[in-house]
Amino acid sequence: MESLLKEKRGGETVLQMSPRATPGGGVEDVYGEDCATEDQLVTPWTTSVASGYNLLRDPRYNKGLAFKENERDAHYLRGLLPPVIVSQELQEKKLMHSIRQYDQPIHKYQALMELEERNERLFYKLLIDNVDELLPIVYTPTVGEACQKYGSIFKRPQGLYISLKEKGKILEVLKNWPERSIQVIVVTDGERILGLGDLGCQGMGIPVGKLALYTALGGVRPSACLPITIDVGTNNEKLLKDDYYIGLRQKRTTGQEYYDFLDEFMTAVKQNYGEKVLVQFEDFANHNAFELLAKYGTTHLVFNDDIQGTASVVLAGLLASLKLLGGTLADHTFLFLGAGEAGTGIAELIALEISNKTKAPVEETRKKIWLVDSKGLIVSSRKGSLQAFKKPWAHEHEPVNNLLDAVKAIKPTVLIGTSGVGRTFTKEVIETMAANNKRPLILALSNPTSQSECTAEEAYKWSEGRAVFASGSPFPSVECNGKLNIPGQANNCYIFPGFGFGLVMSGTIRVHDDMLLAASEALANQVTDEHYAQGMIYPPFTDIRKISAHIAASVAAKAYELGGCCDPSPSTCRFGEVC
Ligand code: NAD
Repeated sequence: MESLLKEKRGGETVLQMSPRATPGGGVEDVYGEDCATEDQLVTPWTTSVASGYNLLRDPRYNKGLAFKENERDAHYLRGLLPPVIVSQELQEKKLMHSIRQYDQPIHKYQALMELEERNERLFYKLLIDNVDELLPIVYTPTVGEACQKYGSIFKRPQGLYISLKEKGKILEVLKNWPERSIQVIVVTDGERILGLGDLGCQGMGIPVGKLALYTALGGVRPSACLPITIDVGTNNEKLLKDDYYIGLRQKRTTGQEYYDFLDEFMTAVKQNYGEKVLVQFEDFANHNAFELLAKYGTTHLVFNDDIQGTASVVLAGLLASLKLLGGTLADHTFLFLGAGEAGTGIAELIALEISNKTKAPVEETRKKIWLVDSKGLIVSSRKGSLQAFKKPWAHEHEPVNNLLDAVKAIKPTVLIGTSGVGRTFTKEVIETMAANNKRPLILALSNPTSQSECTAEEAYKWSEGRAVFASGSPFPSVECNGKLNIPGQANNCYIFPGFGFGLVMSGTIRVHDDMLLAASEALANQVTDEHYAQGMIYPPFTDIRKISAHIAASVAAKAYELGGCCDPSPSTCRFGEVC
């Protein structure tokens, strides 16, 4: 870069830049990262970047033995590294070999986190190139174990911890984070980590893992991602007594104090990062999740993966499955076991999609969708005692106490399990579905595998190979009547990285349900005839970068169509705010 003035001071190289335009219209930076932000375009800037020994300690720029001869000269690395130059490909091969030596997934997790703290680029290359193998380590199920043990394995903070101690000072805490240009925040309060319950402050593994996937699967710059854990205490007695627990040692704050604290956080986020930063709520308990989403959905760019991401990925599977089942979505009848965040979120998106397609009011289209919770079928006579988010599903029907009777009474064409309770799609339930439908669609979404409502093998076997099946946890392929069936996995990772990238790329300031529908359709469109022939209703996960790009493009296009993007035409903004 000819416009770079370089001067060595201690462990730092001071770079004086006069911005040089790139073909993309931004400013090229020293290490070839993405274009600089708008504020850098207007002011010639001075920055300090690590060089020499400090460069080898900076995970964002360290390349280890991959530094080339000219880079070793330019960055004062001579003598600090052995003479050999190792390509990134060879580094990757060596690391994968060493990761495969570990028997325990948690040790693989630790090795990967250490790599992320040492050499970020190599970490992402590993993750991208070996996504099928490493996804279960960086994310569910191993990340769950990591959160349980987070206190013992904690080495360096990987995100921001905002505890009640910081009440009144959250804006200052945000300013402590070293990066200024944040595009995506994933935040948890640790109350419902995966299926593991309240892990308090140790839930940090979740935002860290999700944001790693934002980069690896979606293409968002790592430096634009900020993991945050809100610590309002924990009701987990085991953790409160654990010497190694890293959070506040107090019971969870609830009620007004909790909501005021969240309010301070959300206000500070907007103040510090502006309107276009995406805040993804993750693993909040359902008594807060719905309320937070409804409250901040009108004032911030927020997304709840447990509710909306799940809904979008499942709707994609449903849309794709129509090719095998026949008919339109409106021709089907849906029965859910489980009426929590996942179940009601999916149900609402199905109702919206049918409403969009048929122009029938959503109050009408909801009537095709039935939910069973732990007390039986949700019907109008239960309305008085139902939580608010279940009430729209309380249709006119006599009470039904169990799933099998509900299947017999409602005669669904699609059965969806979101109860978190394993083995609930019994032989009789599946046989009844198969007796009523030529091709029953069975989605056993509960995680982990042990909690799946049925296995892939059971669904195929008990339906004489006629079921179309997908699950939340992965299952191996099953041969039934001489045909190989590949079960789909309704993994949220199909949607959220591309969806989030589409939001930030478009510069939109609000999430609209139509964007979720656009994401579902984009994902469903990636399923080819070849996949259908094997019973698949999701495309192979190995194509995830391409899939995410398609989703991002569809979501951004929808955002522009809806007019919710600050740029280029704020006058058409339908979100009622001055951008
Ligand atoms: P949640 O706690 O919000 O909801 C659980 C629901 O199941 C509640 O309505 C509860 O009343 C009901 N329930 C509990 N026991 C029951 C029983 N014996 N019979 C009938 N209903 C019962 O949980 P959630 O966030 O909705 O998650 C539910 C499950 O869905 C979890 O196992 C989770 O792993 C899974 N999930 C899967 C995906 C995916 O596949 N992509 C995404 C999100 C959640």
